[in-house]
Amino acid sequence: MATTERPLLSAKLAQFGTTIFAQMSELALRTGAINLGQGFPDTDGPPEIIEAAVEALRGGQNQYAPGPGIPALREAIAAHQRRFYRLDPDPDGEVLVTTGATEAVAAALLGLCDPGDEIITFEPYYDSYAACIALAGATRRPITLRPPGYSVDPDAFAAAFTARTRAVLLNSPHNPTGKVFTRQELELIAAHCRERGVLAICDEVYEHLVFDGRDHVPLATLPGMAERTLTISSAGKTFSFTGWKIGWATGPRALVAAVQTAKQFLTFTSGAPLQPAIAYALGLPDAYFESFRAGMQAKRDRLCAGLEAAGLDVFRPDGTYFVTADIRPLGEQDGHAFCLRLPERAGVVAVPTVVFYDDKEVGRPLIRFAFCKRDEIIDEAAARLARLHG
Ligand code: PMP
Ligand code: GLN
Repeated sequence: MATTERPLLSAKLAQFGTTIFAQMSELALRTGAINLGQGFPDTDGPPEIIEAAVEALRGGQNQYAPGPGIPALREAIAAHQRRFYRLDPDPDGEVLVTTGATEAVAAALLGLCDPGDEIITFEPYYDSYAACIALAGATRRPITLRPPGYSVDPDAFAAAFTARTRAVLLNSPHNPTGKVFTRQELELIAAHCRERGVLAICDEVYEHLVFDGRDHVPLATLPGMAERTLTISSAGKTFSFTGWKIGWATGPRALVAAVQTAKQFLTFTSGAPLQPAIAYALGLPDAYFESFRAGMQAKRDRLCAGLEAAGLDVFRPDGTYFVTADIRPLGEQDGHAFCLRLPERAGVVAVPTVVFYDDKEVGRPLIRFAFCKRDEIIDEAAARLARLHG
């Protein structure tokens, strides 16, 4: 191995090291700091969902689930799309269960792209997008979102399309900014996709975390979009079981078939005893979804107030469980260096937003905090951060 000049890591992945989430969670573990970095809740979801999984484990659902997912879960996903968005995917062929949204995004890009294709996405982008676009042999075309509003520049968006554009990869509500794309922005995206015959891949894992009375609007519900849109989501965020990795993709049959062709060679299938539990979860009454959303909105308000009191310039999110902030009011410029030192300076871990930007200048002073944590943890983190400017 030592004799070859050739690096072991494939050229496709050469620019991708360890994900920032793993790095920052490791830092939190090593230093004992409060982890507001990686986005996972510090309390589990409803116990009755766990009981449903236990029942399936004890009831013998421990061998491979069918490739597209168990029928009960595919039916529950279709019913969820009908109930919340009046979309009506056929559970038999228009719904695919995946190993988290991560696998759905990967399989979509691998299944739909040829080398040389271009994918338009919005930066800061979720880190797996860049890696999976590269694995698919495609090229990313980022549209830069800038604080405070993180709004889409229509000219920059139009200019990103070329003859090689295969798809727009949209994430709304958006990680890491917490932005919820406006109806006007969605209409702009839809108009370009329709006119240019381009596909849309929509990552909607935060669909139930939209605040202040706003509604989540799937791009697939806009005129002419259902036939060209793959909609992706996951149980991880909605039910606070991020470790279960039960995700799904819905959309027109041909699109789902292409994704399934790639997916069958990645994991084929996973999570057999968890699938019935998520089928049950998706059917929970509206009260569950409402109280989950209200609880997270209160946590947003709590952390935003704490960050403001600590002197940060806070960009209040409309959705997700993340908030971004600018560190320049603290006399700091470099978010990455700031985050690496934050555990020792304040006993808190955050994520530098710059790693999600190609345009490093825009991302440099920005950092992201997760607020899906117990109130006392949020308060303690805020109190520690307040000492920074003292
Ligand atoms: N997309 C976005 C925007 C995310 O924030 C995450 C993290 N949950 C994922 C995809 C991955 O979801 P999953 O854990 O279901 O693979
Ligand atoms: N989605 C989570 C976040 O953005 C992390 C998931 C992961 O660690 N890959 O923080």
